Amino acid sequence: MKRFLCLLLSAAAALSLAACGAQKPAEAEIYAMDTVMDFTAYGDGAQSALDDAEAEIAALESLLSRTKEDSEVSRVNADPTAQTAVSPSVAQLLRAAADYSAATGGAFDITIAPVVSAWGFTTDTHQVPAQSALDALVPLVDYRQVRVFNRADGAGDCVTLGAGQSIDLGGIAKGFASDRVADIFARHDIKSGMISLGGNVYVCGAKPDGSDWRVGVRDPQNTDGYAGVLDLTDAFAVTSGGYQRYFEENGKRYHHIIDPATGYPAESGLLSVTVVADAQPGDGPGSGTMCDALSTALFVMGAERALDFWRTGGCDFDLVLITDDGRILVTDGIADRFTQGEGYSYEVIAKAAA
Ligand code: AMP
Ligand code: MG
Repeated sequence: MKRFLCLLLSAAAALSLAACGAQKPAEAEIYAMDTVMDFTAYGDGAQSALDDAEAEIAALESLLSRTKEDSEVSRVNADPTAQTAVSPSVAQLLRAAADYSAATGGAFDITIAPVVSAWGFTTDTHQVPAQSALDALVPLVDYRQVRVFNRADGAGDCVTLGAGQSIDLGGIAKGFASDRVADIFARHDIKSGMISLGGNVYVCGAKPDGSDWRVGVRDPQNTDGYAGVLDLTDAFAVTSGGYQRYFEENGKRYHHIIDPATGYPAESGLLSVTVVADAQPGDGPGSGTMCDALSTALFVMGAERALDFWRTGGCDFDLVLITDDGRILVTDGIADRFTQGEGYSYEVIAKAAA
């Protein structure tokens, strides 16, 4: 384990280092899905891969956005109990979301939407809702009432929600998009590339010189710095953290990851959760979708439940957890890939309980 290195690397820094190599990459930066997205790819098909990736992100955003009135998600939300026809991508993503909700006992739940809105995170007009408002909204949060089915009349996939419900795919859509970009890279035979969709990183292959990509894990308490660096090849690394979106009122900070049980920003003792998994070939929701859903869910669950889930939840991934009492917990599957920064104590968590 390499310790206490000076860590000034980030995804962006990794990109510029890679750019010093012999090959010149194709690069793009866009703003979509409410976040900055960076793309880098090497090789002959690199530019057309990035063009296709950008088009795919735009297409997904127009289906999945909750703030674009004509998106499929907005149409589902506008009339929750009606059968709303959705495209295969939306149906696929809703089915994956349901699986991760069930797997995490509802810590991940896309029907959190009315509560997220009550806190003003959808419109950026933030407020602390009255307890009476939350008491009315929390019972609406129940992923089991989301039904995705294929209509007998051949109209394709349809969705219904429970009365008063609405859905918010902000906790999973970028991961799903990263899986799509991974598929696009594969179709264009890209052997080396990297994307960062907000906190969702996918590294394709290794860097052109054969070394691992270096992915920074941001320091939640000093977001200009890094709490550590992961050396990764062919992998997804997705971070959820309260520091990524929040507001302050009367000296208290309120962040955007909501505990479905209380309707309040989760206070689980975690400052951030990074979920890391190998990229798996194939189309449809894959490791990127899994990492995104789980990073949100495990943030809600807190360190102890997150590690239980890592051991017994039946999903294949590793974790970097940063706690509010100054610890970094790294699961043993990636301990040799993690270089620690300064300011935190450090523990490797073994799969087999001690
Ligand atoms: P992430 O950054 O992937 O953790 O996603 C956070 C976003 O997911 C929030 O901004 C909300 O839009 C949504 N969200 C908040 N809490 C939850 C939750 N418990 N389950 C699912 N989505 C959530
Ligand atoms: Mg997420």
